[in-house]
Amino acid sequence: MNWFPLFCDLRHKAVLLVGGGDVAERKARLLLKAGADLRVCATRFSSPFYEWQQAGKLTLLETRFAPEQIDGCWLVIAATDSKEVNQYVSDSAEARRVFCNVVDAPAQASAIMPSVVDRSPLLIAISSSGDAPVMARLLREKIEALLPQHLGKVAAWAGSLRPRVKTTFNGTGQRRRFWEKLFQHDRLAQTLANGDQHRAEKLTEALFQQPLAEHGEVVLVGAGPGDAGLMTLKGLQQIQQADVVVYDRLVSDEVMELVRRDAERIFVGKRAGYHCVPQESINQILLEQAKLGKRVVRLKGGDPFIFGRGAEELEALTDSGIPFSVVPGITAASGCSAYSGIPLTHRDYAQSVRLVTGHVQKEGSLDWQNLAAEKQTLVFYMGLTQAPEIERQLLAHGMSGEMPVALVENGTSTRQRVFSGRLDGLASLAAQAQSPSLIIVGRVAALRDRLRWF
Ligand code: SAH
Repeated sequence: MNWFPLFCDLRHKAVLLVGGGDVAERKARLLLKAGADLRVCATRFSSPFYEWQQAGKLTLLETRFAPEQIDGCWLVIAATDSKEVNQYVSDSAEARRVFCNVVDAPAQASAIMPSVVDRSPLLIAISSSGDAPVMARLLREKIEALLPQHLGKVAAWAGSLRPRVKTTFNGTGQRRRFWEKLFQHDRLAQTLANGDQHRAEKLTEALFQQPLAEHGEVVLVGAGPGDAGLMTLKGLQQIQQADVVVYDRLVSDEVMELVRRDAERIFVGKRAGYHCVPQESINQILLEQAKLGKRVVRLKGGDPFIFGRGAEELEALTDSGIPFSVVPGITAASGCSAYSGIPLTHRDYAQSVRLVTGHVQKEGSLDWQNLAAEKQTLVFYMGLTQAPEIERQLLAHGMSGEMPVALVENGTSTRQRVFSGRLDGLASLAAQAQSPSLIIVGRVAALRDRLRWF
């Protein structure tokens, strides 16, 4: 972080703006909005400057820049069209230890101005540290579109409630839950926007009276196969509201980046050299955390109800009466299918898909006769080490040795690798791949030649 983001109060504080053209005009507009005591130095001014002066909004110094003009100022902005003058202004400010912004030249500046989304009192400032201002602007436009116009009204309303919330609720956890309920209220924002103070007060009072959950809850959330963009909006909301997130190896770092910063993280996966936490202990952790009154998110790779043992974890909760809910995720089969260009069904090649466990021996024998049938796609989860057995059984039950197969390793992530081949070469393909990998068997696997895009 080369720049420290900071919001500062410029009201009635002297600010020097050097320059009188279009660019300076834009800066002046912003500074006036922030209530600065603005003095503008230039030898020529565009007409709005004279209007502002007449309205008593700023002072014009119709002269060349001189370093003494900085004295007493809190901030300096160099916005002339001369690089040399801007540099001189910047050097003079530096010598006086006053922050200086130089328009379009962050290298010369000691302060930069971000792109701003203004829903006062809510302010969102975006900066690319001067490296990509257009990116910052595009991002600003996106956020503008995303945030309701009257969001600022809710923020201001919240500001007025802070003292009462502080005395009503003990502890930051309770307070946060109250605020979340307030900000997610489906009618409050509109009511405030309509200026209906009386009704807004009634809605708020009802929120204060509603008891906050005493005991915790568990939300089983599917994190998708890797690419964080594949997480659902609901899943995202859950990980941003969680007190505790219990996760394992299949959840990508990219997704973990999106977890609320101060949520507690409990890793229950396998680490190199160690065994994973036994299922029984995971169930126990969920139970204990929820009993402490926390909002627990159990985050799982892919979809929690597809080979995720999600059901077992929930069953353990039902006995203790802990409330729970489930947010589905994109399962590895869907993710790998899309990102490898292998559709799982196709009118000509496959009328059905079967998601099959590759733990062939551990989980009882599979119905190989049926699996070897034509016109379907087989997707094996956890099949890497069992690939020789899968190959052997399918061949033995009559599937052709030339049946196309694909192995997708780390599907949807930037490390995705796809190995394509034939069924009679499956075992040797698997020997090259690493976990997690998915095995796709069926005619559709050949479509990758034309449909690969990632
Ligand atoms: N609940 C998960 C599956 C858990 S079982 C889901 O719905 O996707 C674990 C197996 O899923 C792995 O052995 C592997 O076969 C598969 N898998 C999970 N993520 C994967 C990925 N990104 N790429 C390839 N296979 C993956």
